[in-house]
Amino acid sequence: MATTAAAAFFAMSVPPKAQAFYGDDHALIVRAALPLVQSSPDDGVDATALNQIIGSLLDGTGTRGADLFQFDAFRHIDSAASPAEICVLVAEAWDFYIPQVIRGAAPAGPPDFRLLSNGPQARSAFGGLAHALADFYSHSNWIELAIAANLRPGLAPIFPTCDDGFLAGVHTGYFNPMSGVDGCPSTALGGEPDPPERFEECHLTLNKDTAHSLRGDAPVPGMSPMTHYDLARALATRHTTELYWLVRSIVARSFSSEDLDGECVARNLFQADRFEPCAVHNDRIRGAVGERCSTTLVGVDVNTGEYIVCVYSREYRPDGVWVTGNIVGVHNIGEPCDPKIDKASQTPDYIPILCVVDQGWQPGP
Ligand SMILES: [Zn+2]
Repeated sequence: MATTAAAAFFAMSVPPKAQAFYGDDHALIVRAALPLVQSSPDDGVDATALNQIIGSLLDGTGTRGADLFQFDAFRHIDSAASPAEICVLVAEAWDFYIPQVIRGAAPAGPPDFRLLSNGPQARSAFGGLAHALADFYSHSNWIELAIAANLRPGLAPIFPTCDDGFLAGVHTGYFNPMSGVDGCPSTALGGEPDPPERFEECHLTLNKDTAHSLRGDAPVPGMSPMTHYDLARALATRHTTELYWLVRSIVARSFSSEDLDGECVARNLFQADRFEPCAVHNDRIRGAVGERCSTTLVGVDVNTGEYIVCVYSREYRPDGVWVTGNIVGVHNIGEPCDPKIDKASQTPDYIPILCVVDQGWQPGP
């Protein structure tokens, strides 16, 4: 929720220690929202992953690092004058961060696939997305609209999609770091905040980023002593938990296949020190092309991750030698096949099979 320009403003108007707390809010939200590995051994987040999700303002990573990019409205859902404009920013944030999560989470290191292509980047991107989500609650009038309608504020229908029809009347405050430390033009030097025509409010007067901001400090009518800041933070925390389960399921689905356990990939993503083998059938026999073997089953090449078959070898007699099997798909013995297209395959029990004319799939070679 912090913005450096606004932080500078508050540094002038509140005791210095508020500024440090201010910068920690996003980290506190993520810490409170995500289940930890100590209580959820499979579904929780470990300390290394949590640190990468939180990130740092110094290198622009994670939920903290988003504040390094004050000019990117989508990272903070800033300066959206209408529901449609909010949805544009929500879509921008989703389309910016989710591909980074998926790219970074891509399993690596065949044949076990214990590794991710770029775990730190994927976790940092998740933190950035969580930042944008949290900022929606502190930068918009979502809470105020619900209270004005005598409703208990709930979670907004944003991420993964955004329907501006459900956000009627919602806007965020105008914020532009070019307009001085508070990000808002004023009527005169030191005068009243005066946003550009399209905007109803400035970020300065609308934000609930801290307990010391103008709106954040105000008690919520009917919910005293809760302040707008307290409520924005509570909703952001609840929604961040939901975002976590959503992103986990997207990662799991993205990488689930005949050969990979997508849930395992999600566990390795959110537990940076886990390194669980995500290859399905990791009870496979391991070998390497050209090396000695003695099995009748299809194995996996430890260097390439490819399926290999143990065949007769004069050199290693009575053992065999691993060769590339050109194994495609999984079939049962006796199942029909087309010798023009089908060559070698394997049964669900890893028995190598060949497509034989008029006989279908048969054990071999
Ligand atoms: Zn922000």
